[in-house]
Amino acid sequence: MAINRLQKLRPIISQKDLDALLVSQLENYRYLSGFAGSTGWLIISNSHTILATDSRYTEQAKQEAQGFEVIQIRGELDNWLPGLASDLQWHKLGFEANHLSFAAHHKLSETIKAKQLKLELIPLVNLVERLRSIKEPAELELIIKAVELTDAAFEQVKATIRPGVTEKEVAWEIESFLRQNGSEGVAFDLIVASGPNSALPHAQPTERILHHGEAVLIDMGARIGGYCSDFSRTLCLGKELEAASSQLAAIYSAVLEAQLTAIDKIESGMTAAQADQLARRVIEQAGYGDAFGHGLGHGVGIAIHELPTLSPTSADLLTDSMVFTVEPGVYIAGLGGVRIEDVVTLEKGRAKVLTKSKKDSFQL
Ligand code: ZN
Repeated sequence: MAINRLQKLRPIISQKDLDALLVSQLENYRYLSGFAGSTGWLIISNSHTILATDSRYTEQAKQEAQGFEVIQIRGELDNWLPGLASDLQWHKLGFEANHLSFAAHHKLSETIKAKQLKLELIPLVNLVERLRSIKEPAELELIIKAVELTDAAFEQVKATIRPGVTEKEVAWEIESFLRQNGSEGVAFDLIVASGPNSALPHAQPTERILHHGEAVLIDMGARIGGYCSDFSRTLCLGKELEAASSQLAAIYSAVLEAQLTAIDKIESGMTAAQADQLARRVIEQAGYGDAFGHGLGHGVGIAIHELPTLSPTSADLLTDSMVFTVEPGVYIAGLGGVRIEDVVTLEKGRAKVLTKSKKDSFQL
């Protein structure tokens, strides 16, 4: 598996005219090597495949990172990397500019200068992330399992969601269901936001009690075999709509139409900005353009948020075998918010929806 991925990476390293690439980002080194420890670096050249980690992780690394030469390091990058690069006669080393801290880069540069090494550090972005955005069949299978688990959790929790329970109680119900049914923890801190709290796109569950006629926004993710799912639904409790909830019902229809339109019209070959626009136009026409503050969606994989980024400014190109969310939302301060989120994959040029939970009605 990892060997396959390295074969995709190595031509890119050559194209960039690098002697080697330093991979420091956790999901990226996990993807390339299989090593799931929390501290590690890969150094990949045409002839070397090195995994550097400290004594806490060397045994784990040897087991997980098949085909990698595991070296045990001490201290920070500047302590061991310049010596290694010099031994292997590397002069141009790429690094992940989005992830290596300014402090680490600064110390490394100072050490290279002090030792008078001819080693140039080349900043690069998204090399491994772009590979990760195209899913292999085995990765897609794991994501589907995680999606199925969030669907099942939603089905289960619907019975708990009623006036009188708190957001925290609902959140705990979901979390225990996910964990009891095979999720490796939760993919992120889950959201249960009721009434005005639902207007905060990333609200935290509180002691607030759920009431009739209000929106309840649920956003959760499971993790199976290291791969995430991401799921949102918004519900309204009770059949008798109050004045506030009739506006919420109108917002719900607009968000749903935007989501369905995007799913129907998204095609491989589009930019992610064009995909975002499909949904945004519907919400703008309904009069809520200003209240849709975030992008339409994001890739899902080893990380809960990865490429492609579906937003008005994204230049990412959508292609077959990508997996991402479609999750338009409208948030009105003081009233509440609505978000509907499914995970889709691009297959034969079109979006195939992996999430199965119903979304046609705002009423629970
Ligand atoms: Zn999401």
